[in-house]
Order: sequence, then C-alpha cells, then structure tokens
Amino acid sequence: MNNKIEIENLKNNLIKTLFFLFFLKINPCIAKETLTLDYNNIKVFLEGNFIQGGLVKGKIDSNLSVRFKERLLRKTSKGFFVIGFGRDHPKIANLSIKINQNWISKTLNIKKRIYKTQMINGLEKKMVTPPKSFYDRIIRENKAIKNIRHLDSDIDFIFEEFNWPAKGIISGVFGSQRILNGKPKRPHYGIDIAAKKGTSVLAPIESIVRMAEKDLYYTGGTIMLDHGHGVTSVYSHLSLINVNVGDKVKKGQKIGEIGSTGRSTGPHLDWRINWFLERLDPALLVP
Ligand SMILES: [Zn+2]
Repeated sequence: MNNKIEIENLKNNLIKTLFFLFFLKINPCIAKETLTLDYNNIKVFLEGNFIQGGLVKGKIDSNLSVRFKERLLRKTSKGFFVIGFGRDHPKIANLSIKINQNWISKTLNIKKRIYKTQMINGLEKKMVTPPKSFYDRIIRENKAIKNIRHLDSDIDFIFEEFNWPAKGIISGVFGSQRILNGKPKRPHYGIDIAAKKGTSVLAPIESIVRMAEKDLYYTGGTIMLDHGHGVTSVYSHLSLINVNVGDKVKKGQKIGEIGSTGRSTGPHLDWRINWFLERLDPALLVP
C-alpha cells in the first residue's frame, strides 16, 4: 500500500517537474540582460532581451556608425540606438561598427523560443480563406501598415519604458500558431488582452499617431503609434478611436476603446510591436 502511494507521489512530482520545464520553455526568462562588446577597445553597451521577439537598446560613441541587418542605425545625440529580433530570428546576429573606414562585426547569440501551436480540423473553407472580393482591399490595407513599419523617425520616445495599454486578461500570446485543416496560418504576432467593450486603451509610451482607421478588414478599428527609431505598435479591433493621424500622445493618454471590430470573435485588444518588419513580443517590454 505504502509503496503504491510513494510511486503515485513520485509520478506526481515527475509530472510537476516536466510541466515546470515545459513552462520555462514556452515562457523564457524575461529578465533583461546586459552585454558589453569590445571592438578594438571601442565599447558598445547593450541591454535588453537577446531572444526571438526581443528588443535591445544600445549605446555607442555618438560619432561612430553602427549597422544591424544591413541597416545603418539611427542614433540619438548621445549615441543610443535600438535593434530587434523577429519571431523566427536566426540564432546568430551581427552588429557592426565602423572604425577608420572599416566595418567590424561582432556576433550576438539570439535565444530560440518554442511557440504554442493549435490544430483545428474540419472547418468550412470560407472560414479558412477570405473571399476573393476582399483581396484588393486587404492588399491596400496591408501596404499602408507596412509603409508605417518602414518609418525610421527621429523621435526618441522608445528609450522610455512601456506600460500596459489596457487592463484585462491575456487571451493570446506572441508567436502562437494555428493549423486550420492542415494549413499553417500566419502566426499570431500580438498579445491579446480581453476586456469588455469600451475599456480604455492607453498609449503605453509617448508616441506619434501614424494610423487611425475605423474599419480595416482584419483589424477593424486600428491605431498605429510611432515610438521612433523604427519601433511602431498596432492596436486592433477598437470600438472607438480618440486620436487623429499626426497627434502626439503622452504615455498613459487614452487613444481609444476596446471592441470586437474586424475579424474578431469577442472584445479584446490585439497589441503588436515591430522594429521595422521584425515582430517583437510586447510582453517582453512591459513590467
Ligand atoms: Zn490577436
């Protein structure tokens, strides 16, 4: 009898340990790391999440040029810059600086993540692909979003800390993917915050409004904010929009209200952050 209980306890502990390890794997340590790179005695200081979906802030002598992913990085007057690593970023990234007309590279190691996948089969075809009559509209709207993501604005708001844009329940996480009728869909790049319709959405950091659209095909009421240096964010499915394109908004200022507009199954805020076209995990940026 005692043996049986012991085996049962062992089993339970094993399950607990495995679950904990799994939890660690899908929720990697989000503590920020610091790193100092030495380029022939010239130091570059980095701080952030060296992980897929992570953002890293750096500092360099403001007279030097710094390059990442074929891109010459914008710096503040004090030499601060930002870089980001998308959902499927390779394990290695090179950060280069220019010394006496020569580019010198150092390698950064970017940690891999495991994302949640969900298989759903037996769906009707019309649920899986949007009807053809909407294609032109979808292409036009995606282009407008992409153009904003290419902006490299000379504003330094990104060097402040983010706050959560809304209070609610996390109902969707960065990177997760659904496989509908055996067809992998685009991964979910945002974080979903479920809350009742009309809940305030606040600017998580000082920003300039670059998009304020009432009705996009996928995202419904949509706001895009620009935080500078290539970092932009999107707020989707809004029921109300309180800002206009070109507005400068303060951290904590109300920009809209949560809703269920566009392709949405219930009231929630879909919040996304990009460094240019690299998709970042908003959860890594908030306290
Ligand atoms: Zn979402």
